[in-house]
Amino acid sequence: MVMERLGESLKKGFTRISNAIFLDKKLIEGIIKDIQRSLIESDVNIELVFNLTQKIKKIAYDENIKGIDKKEQLIKLIHDEILFILGKETKNLKLDKKNKIILIGLYGSGKTTTISKLGFYYAKRGKKVALLGLDTDRPAAMDQLEQMAKKANLAYFIDKKEKDPIKIYENYKKELEKYDLVLIDTAGRDGLNKDLINQIEKIDKKIKADYRILVLPADIGQSAKNQTTEFQKALSIDGVIITRMDGTSKAGGALTACNQANCPVYFIGVGEQIHEIEIFDPLSYINRLLGMGDLSSLLEKVKSATDEKQTKRIEERLKQGKFTLLDLYSQLEQMNSLGSMDKIMSMVPGFSQVKNKIPKSELEKQEKKMKQWKSAINSMTEEEVENPDVLEKQTSRISRIAKGSGTTTTEIRSLLKQYKLLKEMMYSSNAEKISSGEIDKKTMQKIAKQMKGKIKF
Ligand code: GDP
Ligand code: MG
Repeated sequence: MVMERLGESLKKGFTRISNAIFLDKKLIEGIIKDIQRSLIESDVNIELVFNLTQKIKKIAYDENIKGIDKKEQLIKLIHDEILFILGKETKNLKLDKKNKIILIGLYGSGKTTTISKLGFYYAKRGKKVALLGLDTDRPAAMDQLEQMAKKANLAYFIDKKEKDPIKIYENYKKELEKYDLVLIDTAGRDGLNKDLINQIEKIDKKIKADYRILVLPADIGQSAKNQTTEFQKALSIDGVIITRMDGTSKAGGALTACNQANCPVYFIGVGEQIHEIEIFDPLSYINRLLGMGDLSSLLEKVKSATDEKQTKRIEERLKQGKFTLLDLYSQLEQMNSLGSMDKIMSMVPGFSQVKNKIPKSELEKQEKKMKQWKSAINSMTEEEVENPDVLEKQTSRISRIAKGSGTTTTEIRSLLKQYKLLKEMMYSSNAEKISSGEIDKKTMQKIAKQMKGKIKF
């Protein structure tokens, strides 16, 4: 299906979010660009795309949301927002014992094909269906309906000579009463004009259909909004069926446009064959597009991707007896996530008095430094992160990282110094606990105590 491209880029985005070590600006911008591109390619209204982007950024750049929590929130947001622009909920046609549905639309939108598909769909579900051909404008229209009805094994009522649709209806009225569901095919026009409006009004006044449904081809993309609105005004339509979803890249535009026009999409046509019609269910549509199951299984994947990565790193490190810059960072961040350095200090006995003497600007400086270190680590190659010793041997690397992260070489050197210091400390007493991820509040306090005067921000 052509919406696959959108599905692919969403999937790619979700995977990148799940696997990321840091959700840094560069990564987020890349994901946003991908999603934007594929939404615009699907002809989704630019304003909707912009709103979605803003919402992603708001969560992504919120410093108070961290780690796996941020990943989950981002994925949920993107999932829900795409769902929201496609359609809030499934709208089913509510059929009683006897119903009449009239299909209207412009030339070639897919009315006659859809009539037969709908007939086939409901006949399979136990309805006694009749097709009524009232397109008296096109010479071949009746033949087309006849052929399709025969193929689908459906009862049909046509008149190849009569030019007045009302007369055709009156002739068959009695006969049609024997059916549960009468599906009515009508003539189209090049555009919505007075002529078409009058004709449909006249037919419907006589027939009193339960549903007036506009048939739209998906390839009109977001201009489906205008067309839907015009038809809504002129003929008070009850909903839409979008055809040719299989044959255009603009399908996303058509779907979101109908949603914007507040007009329910009841069915979508997904091929030329008689069975190729389906109820439009936004939620299952997006799930299928993503091919990754529903939202809860998506979120499950984030968790396991993150856990797996973490476990793998710990295993690796244990094997090699390594303590990397990432470990340094996550230790510092854990300390931070306990609530800034401020809080850690108040946890350590004897520190609370000192704490009060530390000016706020000093604490802010520390947090700023954390950010700088984070972007420095982001600018490093995997090798450098895993094995920072290579940096000390090649100063050109340090300059490159400083440049790439917008910091200074002095900063990078101070990061390396802290790394060495902490590494020594960790290996002396707490290595095992840290490696097994068992670091608790007490150990944290111990480290903080040990670091007193050593860790310099
Ligand atoms: P009408 O003029 O509104 O009655 O439109 P038709 O029913 O004659 O359909 C116009 C063309 O669109 C035909 O060639 C159909 O085969 C094609 N068509 C209709 N629905 C679909 C669909 O869901 N997928 C594809 N690929 N083609 C469709
Ligand atoms: Mg037709």
